Amino acid sequence: MSSARENTVAAPTDTVTVVYDERVLAHQPDTNAAFLPGRMDKRIRQIIAGLDVPWKYPEHPGRVTAIRSLLEQSPLPGLSWRSGRAATQEELAQVHTAHYLSDIFRLRGQNAWLDVDTTAVSPGSVEAAEVAAGCALEAVDAVMEGATETAFAVVRPPGHHAEPVRARGFCLFNNVAVAATHAQTEWGCQRVMIVDWDAHHGNGTQDIFWADPDVLFIDLHRAAPFYPGSGTLEEVGAGIGEGSTVNIPMPDGAGDLAYLKAFNDIIVPAADWFSPDLILVSAGFDPHRFDLALDVSYQGFGAMTGVLRQLARRHCQGRLVFVLEGGYNLESLANGVHAVLQVLTGGEVPPPLVRGMAEVEAAAAFHREAFLDTERN
Ligand SMILES: [Zn+2]
Repeated sequence: MSSARENTVAAPTDTVTVVYDERVLAHQPDTNAAFLPGRMDKRIRQIIAGLDVPWKYPEHPGRVTAIRSLLEQSPLPGLSWRSGRAATQEELAQVHTAHYLSDIFRLRGQNAWLDVDTTAVSPGSVEAAEVAAGCALEAVDAVMEGATETAFAVVRPPGHHAEPVRARGFCLFNNVAVAATHAQTEWGCQRVMIVDWDAHHGNGTQDIFWADPDVLFIDLHRAAPFYPGSGTLEEVGAGIGEGSTVNIPMPDGAGDLAYLKAFNDIIVPAADWFSPDLILVSAGFDPHRFDLALDVSYQGFGAMTGVLRQLARRHCQGRLVFVLEGGYNLESLANGVHAVLQVLTGGEVPPPLVRGMAEVEAAAAFHREAFLDTERN
């Protein structure tokens, strides 16, 4: 790789760039198509046939088009768009083995299973995955160039379950990890912090940076045995990277207050200790209650964004890059992304939601006078 680019300048505050490239739509596994024989085809078809409901690949193009439509319907001031590019083999090889990449590249133009958890490719998937990783790189470039204070790569397939040698959980290439190594090799960032708030543990990202003291990986997720089953408190990294992996397992139904407490009590002191040159976010929107595992509201996503922006401004000239991970309910996915972008474009940081509190306050005000009359009759 070339040496670090020249010193960067701070971008105007509250400017946001959304990186989007239509080629990510071409990843469209269709179980009605003929899949490559072997490669678990028989076994997975048996699993799918045994389900009570017809099965469709849940990670579909409608996810990113829903986000795009909402941003077009409800535009935000200070937000600009930038198109992506395909990540190169050399860039992907920063985090994946050559052997894994050649296996994936051989699947261009094919339908095939990648993992027994139903991760699959369609004919356009390999390019879509290269472009998803490339959009994350482009988002890092936009921020490091000083063209924008923050950036959001609206991409799919997602990345945080992808390991150095294995596709998993609908992820082919680990987009956020590729972005982190790009920031180090191309832009000279020494320390990169990754916050993963997707409902599922980012096992792939953890694996890639397990022994790396220069990448602080902090993951909030629904606790095991929830998929993928990793991410216990005791998983803290190893070797010279011991202590640079931080897991925060959450119970079923945890909401805004618990998340904000984790941000204030763990993520803020960790960031102040680490002093990152760039903050990346693996932003999944499946902690929203519509995806049935946790209970983070739109206000909650906005409030977490507010904390991260403050940290980015304190430590690294505001440089903060979001990369889309999961989120399968289209309404909460699109509105969750919108809530993040609203804060990034300078909107007010909302208070976390305590469900029912506003209603009880209103009810108390409504009934208060009824109890003031001391003369009962
Ligand atoms: Zn997820």
